[in-house]
Amino acid sequence: MTSERLAVGCHLSTSDGYTAMGETAVSLDATTFAFFTRNPRGGNVKALDPDDVSGLRDILQAHGFGKLVAHAPYTMNLCSANADTVAFARRAMAGDLERMESLPGNYYNFHPGSHVKQGADVGIELICAGLNEVLVPGQATVVLLETMAGKGSEVGRSFEELARILDGVTHDEAMGVCLDTCHVWDAGYDVAGALDEVLDEFDRVVGLGRLKALHLNDSKNPLGAHKDRHACLGEGHIGLEAFRTVVNHPLLKGLPMILETPGGMEGYRREIALLRSFAGEAPSDSAGALEGVEA
Ligand code: FE
Ligand code: FE
Ligand code: ZN
Repeated sequence: MTSERLAVGCHLSTSDGYTAMGETAVSLDATTFAFFTRNPRGGNVKALDPDDVSGLRDILQAHGFGKLVAHAPYTMNLCSANADTVAFARRAMAGDLERMESLPGNYYNFHPGSHVKQGADVGIELICAGLNEVLVPGQATVVLLETMAGKGSEVGRSFEELARILDGVTHDEAMGVCLDTCHVWDAGYDVAGALDEVLDEFDRVVGLGRLKALHLNDSKNPLGAHKDRHACLGEGHIGLEAFRTVVNHPLLKGLPMILETPGGMEGYRREIALLRSFAGEAPSDSAGALEGVEA
């Protein structure tokens, strides 16, 4: 029964550990979540505590979670013009994927990068070269390219650019796409007024089989603004009805859906409940029971 519920959740902090993240997710009635694999701005890594990770694995299983969608740090740029930055990005991604092996079968999402005046062609080549160095055959994690808003020199601003990256990766069986509703909207894809057409286009250019996860965010800016400022659901230019359509869309329903909205934990709790109500789901008994769980 739990497996039929939406896999919906939000971005959570790792600061209290992995088990605590799972407990927080359960208390929010989330059945997936995202977290940074390391400090989002810098590159620090804490060693994983195996007991802490296995505590999370138990929670995921007990509560019928869908796949998690880990997020690489923002500063990681596989297509920087600076060779040290590229080398760091490759090292960080390889290290993150190695750590993700302790949570097998989940997703690792990253921003393809910013080509910083080198042009998208060079950017795409560098991203492919990085992935070809880092991806290991048989790895337990699928790496997701995030659709980008196209601010600055971001690569991944169109489905065509994502398709070109996927085409250049040798182990492309380990690759997929995470569609961020705010980003594609800002990139000019009308997910509010023409979702079916957008998904058709995605299918034609990339292939819907590549679509593995969604970031659900409203946008503070109008269609095609190339800005990337997230809004709470219903408080932006995309509007609430679009999210009702998304969670009920037959092509999207099974995908993990991650909120990255600016309303804090209470905002997340409200939005998860709202999305479940859109899908005709009752809240789970364990929701809100954070204080009650084993200390
Ligand atoms: Fe992101
Ligand atoms: Fe996102
Ligand atoms: Zn964003």
